[in-house]
Amino acid sequence: MTDHALCSTVLSAPKIAIIGGGLTGLLTATLLERASNQSSSSSNTPQITIFEKSRSVGRLATRYRSDSKTDKNWQWSFGAQFFTAKTTDFQQFITPWLDTGLLQPWCAEVVELTPASDNGQPPNVQSKEQWDVVHARYISTPKMTSWGRELAAALNHTTIVFKTRVAPLTQYLHRQNPQQSQNQTFNQNSKQTELFDETGASLGWFDWVICTAPNGQAVELMADSGFAQQDKVTKPQMQACYTLMLGWDDVQKLPETLKGQLTPQWDVAYLNSAILDRIFIEHQKSTRDELLPSVTIHARNDWSEAHVDDDMESVEEQLLQAAKQALNWNEDSAPSQTDCHRWRYAATVVNKDTEELGILIDATKQWIVSGDWCAKGNIESCYRMAQQTVKAIMQTQ
Ligand SMILES: Cc1cc2nc3c(=O)[nH]c(=O)nc-3n(C[C@H](O)[C@H](O)[C@H](O)COP(=O)(O)OP(=O)(O)OC[C@H]3O[C@@H](n4cnc5c(N)ncnc54)[C@H](O)[C@@H]3O)c2cc1C
Repeated sequence: MTDHALCSTVLSAPKIAIIGGGLTGLLTATLLERASNQSSSSSNTPQITIFEKSRSVGRLATRYRSDSKTDKNWQWSFGAQFFTAKTTDFQQFITPWLDTGLLQPWCAEVVELTPASDNGQPPNVQSKEQWDVVHARYISTPKMTSWGRELAAALNHTTIVFKTRVAPLTQYLHRQNPQQSQNQTFNQNSKQTELFDETGASLGWFDWVICTAPNGQAVELMADSGFAQQDKVTKPQMQACYTLMLGWDDVQKLPETLKGQLTPQWDVAYLNSAILDRIFIEHQKSTRDELLPSVTIHARNDWSEAHVDDDMESVEEQLLQAAKQALNWNEDSAPSQTDCHRWRYAATVVNKDTEELGILIDATKQWIVSGDWCAKGNIESCYRMAQQTVKAIMQTQ
C-alpha cells in the first residue's frame, strides 16, 4: 500500500497514543504523519503522543564506555546489530537515509567459528560468506541508535514523552470523555480511552491507543483490559538473549583469533557453541574506526531462555568462559572491559508452518496491539506492523 492510498482515506484528526518509543512506535507515527501530510485537509492532522518508559528509543541500543586516559570510546550495539529490507516498500522507505549515508549496507566478512576444545585444540575459523549489497544487511551510523533518533526528530505532529510508563489498561478506561466538547468534529459520539501512568496520573484521553510494547509487557498491559483479542496476545513464544560486551585497550592487545593474522579476517562469526550464537566486531564497522576495540557477543536464545532467571554474575561468568574458549585469549590478551545485558523478550520464535499473527485490533475500543513480535520479531517486522496499523486506522475513519 502506498502512502497516498493511506492518506486518501483520512477523514478526520484523531488523538492517538502510542505506547512504546521503539522502532514500531516511531515508524507508526512516521507513517501516520505522512498519511495526514498528503491529505488536503489540515483538520486531518493527527495529534500523536508516544509514551516511552525509558529515556531513549527501544531495543536499538548502544552502550559506551570512555577511556579516561585516551578519551576514546568503546561502543557496543548490544541489541539489533543490523537489519534487512526484503520488501520493496521498506527498501523505498529507507532510501533517503541510504542516500545520506546514515544507513549503510554492512559488507561483513562472515566466518564459522568452533571454539577451543577442552583438550587444548585451538579455535577453528572457516570463511563462510561476505554479506553483499544485493541481499544487504544494513547498519545505522555512527551508532545503531542514530536512525531511531533521526526518525524521532523528523516527527512534526508527535510528542514523545520519555520516562513515562503507561499503567495497564483496564475496562473502565474506555468510556465517554466527560470533557469532550460538543464542538469536536472527530468521533464526538464515540468513547475514548483515558491512559494513566504508574502513579495514577492521567496521561490524557485518546481516540486510538496503539500498544507497541514487547510481548511480555503487552501481556501485562492488556491483561485486565477486556481487549477483544487478548487470547492472541499471549500466543507468541518469546525467548531471551544475553549479550556480552567486551573491550580491549589497544588492537595490539587483541587475541590472535580477533587480529585476523592467523585466521581469515572477519567481522561476524557464527559459533558452533552450546552457549554462544554470534560474535560481532564493532570497531571494524564503517565510521566506527575511532573506537577502541569493542566486541559484542549474543548468547544463543535457547541457552538464554533456560537461564533467564539466573543470577547475572553467574551468567556473566559462564558467558566469559565460553567467549574465552571462542576467542582464545590468555592473561595478556584478556579484555579489559566486560559487561553483560539480559534481554528478557529478545526473540520471537517463528514457526514457519503457522500464519503470522499480524497486528491485533479491538475495533470497538479502537485499541491496537502491535510490535515486531506480531510478525517475525525483527526490524523489518516493525515497519510492516506500522503499515498494518496505519491502514487499520484509516479504514475506520
Ligand atoms: C539481542 C537482540 C538482537 C537483535 N538482533 C536483530 C537483528 O540482527 N536484526 C533485526 O532486524 N532485529 C534484531 N533484533 C530485533 C529488533 O531489535 C526488534 O525487532 C526491534 O528493535 C523491536 O522494536 P519494537 O519497537 O517493536 O520494540 P522495542 O524496541 O522493544 O520498543 C518497545 C518500547 O516499549 C516501551 N514500553 C514497554 N512497556 C511500556 C509502558 N508500559 N509504557 C511506556 N513504554 C513502554 C519499551 O521501553 C520499549 O522501548 C534484535 C533484538 C535483540 C534484543
